[in-house]
Amino acid sequence: MPAFSLDPAQTARCAELRTLAAERLRPLAEKGEPGHVNRPLVTELGRLGLLERLFTSGAVDLCLMRESLAHACTEAETALALQGLGAHPVHAYGTPAQRERWLPGVAEGSTVAAFALSEPGAGSDAAALELRAEPEPAGDGGPVRWRLTGEKCWISNAPEADFYTVFARTTPDAGARGVTAFLVPADRPGLTGTGLDMLSPHPIGALTFDAVPVTADDMLGEPDRGFRVAMGTLNLFRPSVGAFAVGMAQAALDATLAHTAERDAFSGKLKDLQTVAHQVAEMALRTEAARLMVYAAAAAYDEGSRDVPQRAAMAKLLATETAQYVVDKAVQLHGARALRHGHLLEHLYREVRAPRIYEGASEVQRGIIAKELYATMEAGQ
Ligand SMILES: Cc1cc2nc3c(=O)[nH]c(=O)nc-3n(C[C@H](O)[C@H](O)[C@H](O)COP(=O)(O)OP(=O)(O)OC[C@H]3O[C@@H](n4cnc5c(N)ncnc54)[C@H](O)[C@@H]3O)c2cc1C
Repeated sequence: MPAFSLDPAQTARCAELRTLAAERLRPLAEKGEPGHVNRPLVTELGRLGLLERLFTSGAVDLCLMRESLAHACTEAETALALQGLGAHPVHAYGTPAQRERWLPGVAEGSTVAAFALSEPGAGSDAAALELRAEPEPAGDGGPVRWRLTGEKCWISNAPEADFYTVFARTTPDAGARGVTAFLVPADRPGLTGTGLDMLSPHPIGALTFDAVPVTADDMLGEPDRGFRVAMGTLNLFRPSVGAFAVGMAQAALDATLAHTAERDAFSGKLKDLQTVAHQVAEMALRTEAARLMVYAAAAAYDEGSRDVPQRAAMAKLLATETAQYVVDKAVQLHGARALRHGHLLEHLYREVRAPRIYEGASEVQRGIIAKELYATMEAGQ
């Protein structure tokens, strides 16, 4: 694989996105209510043409958008990412009718999407999910019907999304091979939900399915092949979670450079202390290493490389752990002011924690990397 570098058009696009995030999106984010979907923000993302790009460009572009938006407005970044996560299964696995019905609204920002895989009893071990899809006899030759019964938990944008990509068990005791993906509109009878109050300022909730009716027209992909839909979606989104993390790390680094250059201490500036300067260098070094790995993984995805699962896992793992390190060091170098409510670093300190857990915790990524390494060795490649 060639060394990764951004071309001048991509660099210019990142600068433009950072400006848009700071000037157009940040003010809307500030008016939002923590824990709730910020519809004006989603609409503005649509108006700026950014949501459309989720379906028209590749993984590298997705990462560029996520990194650049995260630098100035994590709320906008997350709103964009969740539209992509919830709607990608429709885009990549849906029928023409499903795509036509749902994707224009997602791209416009008028329809809010969500991805519902996790359950109270099935997080990291997603193949253990239990939400049941029980078949009903098809009357009069109509489409096959199921009733969905069970719970989903920690679902971003729930319960306020307009539709959910739901992964349900169609074959009992079959693990990953007995799961089917369905597109469930939020107004289906029997579907209810509640919001959850979390550390990160991110809309998230739990869903209860009480015999929610779905038909074959709601199915995404093939019956019992829904785990492929989930993993295919995560292979695309994992490097981009890394890009989100890199954007946060860069914002923390930039704030630290500015602060240590102007803060008076010990008859000079903080940056004149060698331990401080070396700490800043270490933050920059790790951020850049994470960035390279994120874009290498995204480029591998766009090229259809065989090693995407391993690269995606490495990128997500390294970038999210790095961002935690960098934001923590940035807090330290800012001192007390960083912990004041409303400070950029106080915000980033809350934001940076969850990505090490969602879309596969760091330990799960290590498991994927090891599995891929041994599989490659055994295949003699
Ligand atoms: C802010 C946020 C947003 C989320 N959004 C969504 C969403 O939109 N849709 C959705 O479906 N889910 C979502 N989730 C859920 C998320 O995907 C799960 O939290 C995650 O998969 C981990 O599952 P769990 O929390 O049940 O932890 P568990 O599976 O119980 O794991 C707990 C811990 O055990 C350790 N562990 C687990 N497995 C292994 C292993 N194989 N080897 C070693 N150690 C291990 C890890 O330290 C892990 O963090 C979100 C979570 C958060 C925090």
